Amino acid sequence: MSPANNKLSPYDWIIVGGGLVGASIAYGLIQKQPQLRILVLDGGDTDHRASVGNFGLIWVQGKGNDFPAYANWSLQGADLWPEFARQLSHKSQIDIAYQRQGGLEFALSQHQLSVLREEMATMSRHTQGRFQYTLLDRNAALALQPGLGEAVVGAAYSPQDGQVNPLYLLSALHKANRLLGVEYQSRCPVEHIEVLEHGFNAAGSLAKHIVLCAGLDNQRLGKQLAMHLPVTPVKGQILITERAEAGKLPYASPQMRQTAEGTIQIGGSHEHKGLDNRSSLDIMQTIANDAVTIMPELAKLHLVRSWSALRVMSPDGAPIYQRSTKYQGAFGVCCHSGVSLAAAHAGLLSSWLLNTLDRDQKILIEAMNNDRFAV
Ligand SMILES: Cc1cc2nc3c(=O)[nH]c(=O)nc-3n(C[C@H](O)[C@H](O)[C@H](O)COP(=O)(O)OP(=O)(O)OC[C@H]3O[C@@H](n4cnc5c(N)ncnc54)[C@H](O)[C@@H]3O)c2cc1C
Repeated sequence: MSPANNKLSPYDWIIVGGGLVGASIAYGLIQKQPQLRILVLDGGDTDHRASVGNFGLIWVQGKGNDFPAYANWSLQGADLWPEFARQLSHKSQIDIAYQRQGGLEFALSQHQLSVLREEMATMSRHTQGRFQYTLLDRNAALALQPGLGEAVVGAAYSPQDGQVNPLYLLSALHKANRLLGVEYQSRCPVEHIEVLEHGFNAAGSLAKHIVLCAGLDNQRLGKQLAMHLPVTPVKGQILITERAEAGKLPYASPQMRQTAEGTIQIGGSHEHKGLDNRSSLDIMQTIANDAVTIMPELAKLHLVRSWSALRVMSPDGAPIYQRSTKYQGAFGVCCHSGVSLAAAHAGLLSSWLLNTLDRDQKILIEAMNNDRFAV
């Protein structure tokens, strides 16, 4: 039956937004309770979509330095990734190019190295030593990553960081969801959500529960369900080089990573330019120069592609997991690290939505609600 024919028969869940966050949550819900009727209402191809413009890191280092719950959540999420990737690839028959080879954060001065030392020690404390890392001097960094520029004085290494092809991840989630019976409707922007006596009406479809996963549109939609979801756009630009020999960059880093196909992806810019998502030459030059400072040999590679995309950023960079206190059954999920946390969203967050989590895990997730922004 097509979604259009179903419009008046209620779903158990409507998920507004079919990016990485909405697709991961739908995947988790349908796997836990296959009898659920789930509808994902997605926007159009010209929408801002961080999920198709991101860097593809599954990153733990530095996450939640000032926020212990987020540090623990990031680590949990990264630890859930290997099994999540295995199952998703199996279900969808799409190789998502997941690797957990570890990651390097480079330091270009002794000051940066001591900041990294502090940050890593703090994360280790927050996670009761479960976050693993090694602080490397220049020689130790060179042993892991040959060819480093003179400016690199050291690095932090964590074996818990990894990477994935984010486009394959998104299409694998959509394919698996379809095979598992999740209904999906594209080009169906939700303008208004009507609160009913026992549920919600979004774009003519009814459901008992609704989860807002509309990226930057969550702020607007959240207000309709009495939820404060303060997200703003932060632009990031990315460059892709021609293919380099395999193993050129054995470890991922926030400035560069080598994709499974062999290209080198360069990024790491942060700009506050509203909804302007155009690329600009000055930022491209800056990130290219930063990458060449770290790995001078990259200067020999041609650039073949570049793009920019808007991050879905909360005021402190950590996710927001919100339950509407006014309208039972309504939730909002906003997240800047939707790749890193995809396994956690499919696994633990979907259990939180279903109210089947144990107490400690529930407390951890609810520490990331919007109370922290109360004035
Ligand atoms: C440059 C850059 C680099 C990044 N690097 C990383 C990284 O290395 N690792 C990492 O973990 N994260 C990274 N991120 C963040 C990650 O991409 C996001 O956290 C994630 O994609 C957010 O997913 P989302 O589904 O919430 O939002 P989006 O991808 O923005 O998707 C929102 C969806 O909602 C739909 N929508 C919007 N409004 C409506 C509406 N009214 N009705 C129906 N549907 C609607 C849109 O069409 C879209 O499909 C990066 C982001 C950027 C921009």
